[in-house]
Amino acid sequence: MLDFECLGNRQNIKNYDVVVCGGGPAGFSAAVCSARAGARTIIIERNSCLGGIWTAGLLTWILDIKNKSDKGLLKEMFTELSEIGAGRFIADGVKFSCDVEEMKHYLEQKCVAEGIDVLFGASVCGVKSEERRIKYIAVNSKSGIEYFSAKAYIDATGDGDLGAMSGCSFRSGDAEGNTQPMSLIALLCGVDVEKVRLMNNSETIAGNNPKKNLFAEMQRAGITPSYTQPTLMQLSDDGIFALMSNHEYGIKAYENDKITKSVINARHELYNTVKALKKLGGAWKNVHLVATAEQIGVREGRQIEGVYSITEHDVFEGSCFDDAICDVQNRVDIHSPKCENGGGVVDVGRISKPYQIPLRALIAKDNDSVIMAGRCISGEMYAHSTFRLTGNAVETGSAAGILAALSAASGDIPKGVSFSDFKKMQNRIFG
Ligand SMILES: Cc1cc2nc3c(=O)[nH]c(=O)nc-3n(C[C@H](O)[C@H](O)[C@H](O)COP(=O)(O)OP(=O)(O)OC[C@H]3O[C@@H](n4cnc5c(N)ncnc54)[C@H](O)[C@@H]3O)c2cc1C
Repeated sequence: MLDFECLGNRQNIKNYDVVVCGGGPAGFSAAVCSARAGARTIIIERNSCLGGIWTAGLLTWILDIKNKSDKGLLKEMFTELSEIGAGRFIADGVKFSCDVEEMKHYLEQKCVAEGIDVLFGASVCGVKSEERRIKYIAVNSKSGIEYFSAKAYIDATGDGDLGAMSGCSFRSGDAEGNTQPMSLIALLCGVDVEKVRLMNNSETIAGNNPKKNLFAEMQRAGITPSYTQPTLMQLSDDGIFALMSNHEYGIKAYENDKITKSVINARHELYNTVKALKKLGGAWKNVHLVATAEQIGVREGRQIEGVYSITEHDVFEGSCFDDAICDVQNRVDIHSPKCENGGGVVDVGRISKPYQIPLRALIAKDNDSVIMAGRCISGEMYAHSTFRLTGNAVETGSAAGILAALSAASGDIPKGVSFSDFKKMQNRIFG
């Protein structure tokens, strides 16, 4: 644990009801619901925008939204984003696609309207815990080290930074600790929408395999992508696409030196790929690499151990729970941790069933101040590969925000908050 006792001015600790660490899909949702439940709330975010993978990660396809888009925060977001022309349901209606810049602006304005404080360029870098409770956290930014305390804390860092710093046990990847590869996303414009139809993952054409076609096209250009199932996702009618075609292997979400090398490597691969495609002409004649992501896409960070941990059994048997807060419909989606065969998706040969996430999977087992949201909630590798999508991050974030606000107001630890009080507040907020 970081020794920061001598750093900064701890006489000046800033107090909140709820501190949300990380402002990605889960952190944003947590903060909105915490504020609506009456808690004075702050988001501490290391980037200079909200949205995490949606914005800094350049991936604005919101997935696993079936049974969720007609209620709660997702419904509200889809309605508002559609109204301002910043997003739309695509293909079969099971995906919602947004414009990256519109999304950044939308999320910020939503926080402003809800009275949520936001701190950018600020990384949670230390935790002072005593007797299973957090006393305060340390945050590193251009202002130096600053200290924040709260009645409840939400770990929405994706990687489980807060939980780990608070001394919580966690797992990462499979039983041997192997984690799935990371991918850096690129944004392309000038792609000929008609000519790439058969390579476009947004198109549902019977019998067509867009990833296979794109792979063949890249090989025709002299490129073998490090991810052999490259994916082209259409974000607008005028030819803006997100491209996911690289895999970086053997890196933990908390190994910054390796992450840096992988970002440099992935960006180099993307530049070479787009250059080679452009040389082909045709659909790619006017292609332009507009941006590469600020934040590399991390599939697996830490799963902080919860009061309940979602198991392989839950995924394949379709478990239901009395304290359910989210329906997961996604299939098992494990990108092979090994780079053999381009690290395609592991075929587990078993079909997962829709199952539910219980509120207990959001409550840390080892620290009574920590509530998790998004991809760092408690679950085994199979479970994580089904629940990590952002439709579920919004739902777990919303639940974490309500739970944190109730805990802050009552003084009860999160696992002491009754589920009926939770449901009452959820109904009050969303009807
Ligand atoms: C390559 C890739 C493709 C994917 N494709 C899709 C897709 O198409 N659709 C979909 O729905 N999901 C997709 N996913 C899954 C999804 O992106 C993630 O699981 C999702 O990001 C979960 O949201 P989150 O809020 O938990 O985490 P994140 O989006 O990672 O957000 C975490 C936030 O916390 C901040 N943070 C981290 N550490 C700290 C710290 N110490 N202090 C302060 N702030 C911190 C980060 O900057 C970030 O803003 C994909 C994931 C990857 C990696």
